[in-house]
Amino acid sequence: MINYNVISKIKEYAKENNVPIMSDSGIKYLTDFIRENNIKKILEIGTAIGYSAIMMCSVDSSITVTTIERNEKRYLEAIKNIKRVNMEDRIDPIYKDAFDVNLKDKFDLIFIDAAKAQNTRFFEKFESNLNNGGIIITDNMNFHGLVYKEEEIESRNLRQLVRKIKSYKVFLEKNDKYSTTFIDVGDGIAISRKVD
Ligand code: SAH
Ligand code: MG
Repeated sequence: MINYNVISKIKEYAKENNVPIMSDSGIKYLTDFIRENNIKKILEIGTAIGYSAIMMCSVDSSITVTTIERNEKRYLEAIKNIKRVNMEDRIDPIYKDAFDVNLKDKFDLIFIDAAKAQNTRFFEKFESNLNNGGIIITDNMNFHGLVYKEEEIESRNLRQLVRKIKSYKVFLEKNDKYSTTFIDVGDGIAISRKVD
C-alpha cells in the first residue's frame, strides 16, 4: 500500500521548493471523487513532482495515470517520486509541453492543473480524449482567492491571469456539451461531466 512516509517527504519538498501541489482538502475531495465514480484511466495536465498523480493512483490498484509536465527539474523529481512508491508501471510521465502532445487514448478523467491562463485551450485540445460520460476536472478556479478580489490586484499580469480564469468559468458555464459544477474545496475546482 501507499507509503505515507514518502508522501510526507514529497509534500515537504513541495513546500521548500515552492511547488504548488494540491492542498490536503482538495486532494481528499479529488481522490474520494475518483473512488465514488469508479474512475480507472486518468490524464493529468501538469505533473509537477508527481504528488497528485501518485495520490490519484493510490485510490485503487487498477488505476492508471498519464501525466504531462514541461519543466525538466520537476519532471525528473516526479520520476524519482514515482519510483519511490513503486508506481512506474501505472504512472506514465511525459516530458513535453502539453500543447505538443497528441494522444489517441480515451480517458475517464482529465485533470487540468497546469498554466491557469491556458485552461480553455487545454480543455479544447484534450476533450477529444475523453470517454463518453467522462469528466474534466480543473484545479485552482479560485486562484488563491484572487478571483474574488480582482480590483485589489496591483500587478497587471496577475489581473490579466485572474480575468482569464473568470472567462474560463464563463466558457464552462456556457458549454452545453458538459454539465459543470464548481466546488469550493481546496483552491476551488470545476467538475465538468460530458453529457451523452
Ligand atoms: N498537479 C500537481 C501540481 C501541478 S503545478 C499536484 O497537485 O501535485 C502546475 C504544473 O504545470 C507546473 O509544474 C508547470 O510546469 C506545469 N505546466 C504548466 N503549463 C504546462 C504546459 N503547457 N505543458 C506541460 N506542463 C505545464
Ligand atoms: Mg493546482
